[in-house]
Amino acid sequence: MQSVPPLRDRHDVLVVGAGPAGIAAAIHLHRRGIKVTVIDKAMFPRDKCCGDGLTTGALRLLDELEFEPNTVKSWTVCHDVVLRSPTGKEVRLQLPADAGQFAAIAPRSEFDAALVQHARNLGIEVIEGASFERVVGNERDGVTVSLAPLGVRTFSAVVAADGMWSTVRKGLGANLPNYLGDWHAFRQYATNVTGPASEKLFVWFDEDLLPGYAWSFPLSGGRANVGFGILRGSKSSPADMKAQWQSLLQRPHVRHALGEGAEMIDRVTAWPIPARVTSATLSAPGVLFVGDAACVTDSLTGEGIGQALLSGKLAAQAIGQSAPGDLLAPGRRYEQAMRKEFFADHRMSIVLGKILAHPLGARGALRAANLSEWTRRNFVRWMFEDEPRSIITTPSRWHRKFLKRPGAFASRDTV
Ligand SMILES: Cc1cc2nc3c(=O)[nH]c(=O)nc-3n(C[C@H](O)[C@H](O)[C@H](O)COP(=O)(O)OP(=O)(O)OC[C@H]3O[C@@H](n4cnc5c(N)ncnc54)[C@H](O)[C@@H]3O)c2cc1C
Repeated sequence: MQSVPPLRDRHDVLVVGAGPAGIAAAIHLHRRGIKVTVIDKAMFPRDKCCGDGLTTGALRLLDELEFEPNTVKSWTVCHDVVLRSPTGKEVRLQLPADAGQFAAIAPRSEFDAALVQHARNLGIEVIEGASFERVVGNERDGVTVSLAPLGVRTFSAVVAADGMWSTVRKGLGANLPNYLGDWHAFRQYATNVTGPASEKLFVWFDEDLLPGYAWSFPLSGGRANVGFGILRGSKSSPADMKAQWQSLLQRPHVRHALGEGAEMIDRVTAWPIPARVTSATLSAPGVLFVGDAACVTDSLTGEGIGQALLSGKLAAQAIGQSAPGDLLAPGRRYEQAMRKEFFADHRMSIVLGKILAHPLGARGALRAANLSEWTRRNFVRWMFEDEPRSIITTPSRWHRKFLKRPGAFASRDTV
């Protein structure tokens, strides 16, 4: 019988969840020569309730993964952005159109399946229809887990990329008590979009939605991803949101943007958005939490794909830099890196969110963005996370090409 190599030599890592966070972790681990297995309880393509919007930050991280946008059929690059203030005034902004991509929309059913395929093409094992059940033990030099239907297995580390309702987090008793997410958001697809929303990205700060907002993100073929999100604990409850959703779709500015013949298709979906990275559990012995499982979305906008990709990368680095068999070192390294990359941005987003929560603040912010050509050009790049939210206050992240770098995929021949 062939002997099983000792764990120290195997250094194989389990990634639970094949969303953006899990696939980013898996690819970065694989690049370091670490054997990695990804499991997901879903079969791909699977939908994920999302706005499908990719910021400049997310696109740069995908570029780094050598992901190919052309593998996503509906990938839609967008340059034109319209922000509408609570008074109805519109601010029109433009992302650079000449050097690379700064914003794109990619339906998650297609995008996540393409990411999984990209990982497989690199030689990474991705097992669909396999669920993480529980941690059996994480005391010595490995983490023993129970997976359905794979059975009990031991890994040198586990990356928990299993989203908002992380079973790994729950199983380790690391859930925040009664936590239901910071945002709650609705999404539905529209077809036959003939108005300006067929090409432009709209963000509506209607007064009754504050401190949230509504959006329409354009998709190829006259489609759009339309939705809105509100902060939990604000004046609207998720139950009120259902009524608000119907009223939103009837508002003249929304109807005008979509065009009179636009139709809402598929079902409306709603999902929470976790945005409290500074108080979430980021690691346990042998286990690192990434993406929504680490509550890492931007508390200002609710965007989390770029944050998922970055936290996955940081987890892979932390594991790669630690000796196999040391269950504590990856967590220490990872938490340090997460503090550096996310905490200042999170605090800045909270401050800005408080300003935007009030009609006067939202009006003032949009007025400031619209002051001059310079503010318009740079505000939109900052808004789309071309630079970290709080780069101004974190000199360690300063660089010479501040808001002047080309977009993602600039050196590639892509859509
Ligand atoms: C309405 C809405 C709109 C949004 N819009 C945007 C946007 O436009 N741009 C943006 O950047 N972000 C947006 N977000 C946030 C974004 O969707 C998430 O932050 C992002 O999907 C997080 O990625 P992830 O990989 O951490 O988790 P997920 O994408 O949730 O993936 C988790 C994976 O884990 C799997 N899984 C779960 N449990 C188990 C288990 N026990 N065993 C095995 N597998 C398991 C799931 O099947 C899933 O595939 C939005 C969110 C919502 C709700």
